[in-house]
Amino acid sequence: MAEASRTSEARRDAVFGRWVVFSPARSRRPTDLKSHSPTNPSPGPSPGADSPAPPKPSCPFCAGRESECAPQIFRVPPDGTLPWRIRVIQNLYPALRRDVEPPPPPPVLPEGEAPPDEPGERAVPGFGFHDVVIETPRHDVRLWDLDAEGVRDVLLAYAERVRQLGEHPAVKYVQVFKNHGASAGASMAHSHSQMLGTPFVPPSVTTRLNCMKEIFDRSGNCSLCEIRSKDILISETPNFSAIVPFAASYPFEIWIIPRQHISYFHEIDQDKALDLGSLLKTMLQKLSKQLNDPPFNFMIHSAPFGLSSSCLPYTHWFLQIVPQLSVIGGFELGSGCYINPVFPEDAAKILRELDCSV
Ligand code: AMP
Ligand code: ZN
Ligand code: ZN
Repeated sequence: MAEASRTSEARRDAVFGRWVVFSPARSRRPTDLKSHSPTNPSPGPSPGADSPAPPKPSCPFCAGRESECAPQIFRVPPDGTLPWRIRVIQNLYPALRRDVEPPPPPPVLPEGEAPPDEPGERAVPGFGFHDVVIETPRHDVRLWDLDAEGVRDVLLAYAERVRQLGEHPAVKYVQVFKNHGASAGASMAHSHSQMLGTPFVPPSVTTRLNCMKEIFDRSGNCSLCEIRSKDILISETPNFSAIVPFAASYPFEIWIIPRQHISYFHEIDQDKALDLGSLLKTMLQKLSKQLNDPPFNFMIHSAPFGLSSSCLPYTHWFLQIVPQLSVIGGFELGSGCYINPVFPEDAAKILRELDCSV
């Protein structure tokens, strides 16, 4: 459908089960949509530049200021005589704490049977893990300034740490996420991401699994394996597709989805991580160029640990990128529905045709 002839439409998403209202009247042309609060008016240096990193005096994530950080968990490369490229560290101000008593393990139930969730209000100690991944020693380098191998190594560091956290019997889920820019929640400008290992399965994960199960029970298909439309495709690699989802909640939202049905992100291997690294880099470059370096978040949506094998056919991990172009208002807060002024097919076409090589 041509952009000019579009009228409002409501769409339901087949992963989160959310209704989204597409209302092109609420914006000018989709190509005019730009961030009003760019995160970095002067872009970083060319990647791989050999000049010494200019450390920022007040930044504890810069090379040389490691002693100002909470303890390190591991670094890349592991050899301490070489300069580090990535550091995974504890969060100095953790939302959940690794040093409090974890909740007792749930009773062992027969296969396929879920433990009953106690209704009503309850409080448990704030046990969990909150880690930070410093993606580069340089203050002036953004994730997408790294080469594909550099982004691959960041993804492999996430996977390694998720595997480690999954070995803790009380950790049920790990949310990997990145905040970039103050209005996307970032308090630190130095390129980094975070993960939280929680002793419960977060509600949006349960909602996602329930929604995908309902579709699987009805159709025998996984919602993400089912996506075929070329109209919402931005780019494809041997192992991943980048799309604007059919019922995107946010303008220019992107999902990067493994083309093979895989439930757990942390099972990613070197080759697939390189493929993903290259596609993620391209998508972040495209968003930066098209939307004027917007604040954004990305989140990795994986399966909870210890899922019964009967749930695996409908759980499929993916990475969601959300540029922050507008504030969430009362309609969204009240109804849980979103208003998106840009149809996914229009956003996908713009991003597909955008050339980032020049
Ligand atoms: P963000 O607020 O998304 O930019 O994430 C930065 C995170 O780094 C926050 O959760 C901070 O608590 C954490 N943080 C800030 N300073 C330090 C530090 N010196 N060592 C470890 N973590 C830190
Ligand atoms: Zn720094
Ligand atoms: Zn699938």
